[in-house]
Amino acid sequence: MPDSVQTQPYDPAAEVVDICRDLLRIDTSNYGDDSGPGERKAAEHVAALLDEVGIESTLTEAAPGRTSLVARWGEGDGDPLLIHGHLDVVPAAAEDWQVDPFAGEIEDGYLWGRGTVDMKDFDAMVLSIVRARTRAGALPQRPIVLSFTADEEAGGHLGAQHLVDNHADLLADCTEAVGEVGGFTTTVRGKRIYLIEAAEKGMAWMRLTARGRAGHGSMINHDNAVTTLAAAVARIGSHDWPVRLTPAMEVLLASVADIAGTEATPENAEALVEEFESSARMLGAVIRNTANPTMLDAGYKVNVIPTEASAHVDGRFLPGYEDEFFATLAELCGEDVTWDFVSKQQPWDSPFEGRLMDAMTKSILAEDPDGIVAPYLMSGGTDAKHFRRLGMESYGFAPLRLPPDLDFGSLFHGVDERVPVDALEFGARVFDRFLDQA
Ligand SMILES: [Zn+2]
Repeated sequence: MPDSVQTQPYDPAAEVVDICRDLLRIDTSNYGDDSGPGERKAAEHVAALLDEVGIESTLTEAAPGRTSLVARWGEGDGDPLLIHGHLDVVPAAAEDWQVDPFAGEIEDGYLWGRGTVDMKDFDAMVLSIVRARTRAGALPQRPIVLSFTADEEAGGHLGAQHLVDNHADLLADCTEAVGEVGGFTTTVRGKRIYLIEAAEKGMAWMRLTARGRAGHGSMINHDNAVTTLAAAVARIGSHDWPVRLTPAMEVLLASVADIAGTEATPENAEALVEEFESSARMLGAVIRNTANPTMLDAGYKVNVIPTEASAHVDGRFLPGYEDEFFATLAELCGEDVTWDFVSKQQPWDSPFEGRLMDAMTKSILAEDPDGIVAPYLMSGGTDAKHFRRLGMESYGFAPLRLPPDLDFGSLFHGVDERVPVDALEFGARVFDRFLDQA
């Protein structure tokens, strides 16, 4: 922004709650099989919000109704920063909830509904900030590309992947990307740690197959595919994967060790992870490779031994430990079980130093001087995996200051998903500061 332009004062959080509510009320449930309502209504709603302040959007569809939006904002110098959020949500079984998951109710200081943490909260923060800043003439120094995608909850094939494969021109020149699953607090011994997502595990969804000799269930059969497969599945499911500390987790555990008055070593990594209490289940999964059997399929009649038995395994491997993962898996499977991939995605990690990381840290500390900022490795995958194929470094940074007793991790895809209203407003203020320094 040229110095001569006088900017008006503005409140970046002014519209965040209303925008989030309106987005929650547009059902974008993604069942993974294209039977849901799609994202078009939500994308058109976002386009209208941007249009009101003079920002033009491009809408693209990988399939009818599966709409993603891209818009360029600001005209400063330098490489554009991509800010991305997804518009779809996982389905919600309303009968399990205390409130209607698509009503956007506010109760007890929380905004309730499917998508309040994953991730219409961040979508709303970004839109509130963009609208407030544009109206006030306070455009960021760095050009921004905004993207609101379809289909993240089913792997992004009809969303981010489609954008990267077919509309890379809309994302041209972006060198860094900021999206979901980072920036929220977890509490260790009363201290708030803001976890910045700086790495993601790789994903190997595999179909295991055992073949044997078919025959009558009443006779001797030492080549039973069901027995062979079941043994391999049991070995995989009960395997104790060794602790492996990647750079992001080394830094995070060092912060925790500091609070606990000890030192971070591979030997006490598990004890340090336990310090996170409600986040320990997720963080325990990112100090090691994991493989969980999830589906079994064999046979059609109780007295017929089938030729083939199959199982599905959800494997997740750390950056730098892919070879070890597959070598171990081959051993656990044994010679008589083969596998092929249903889906495979590479892990990634971004440096957690430099301008963007500094901007994230400073913007958090400006709003919460007692906070601690540290990187972490995320167990799941996000749209970041697709955008990285265009050469962007990625971070998860959707800031939320949360109450210490809130089991935040369980709200992702969980029943009674909700976000504190003041956390939404906090996030908008932090992210607004971040834009000044990014
Ligand atoms: Zn998400």
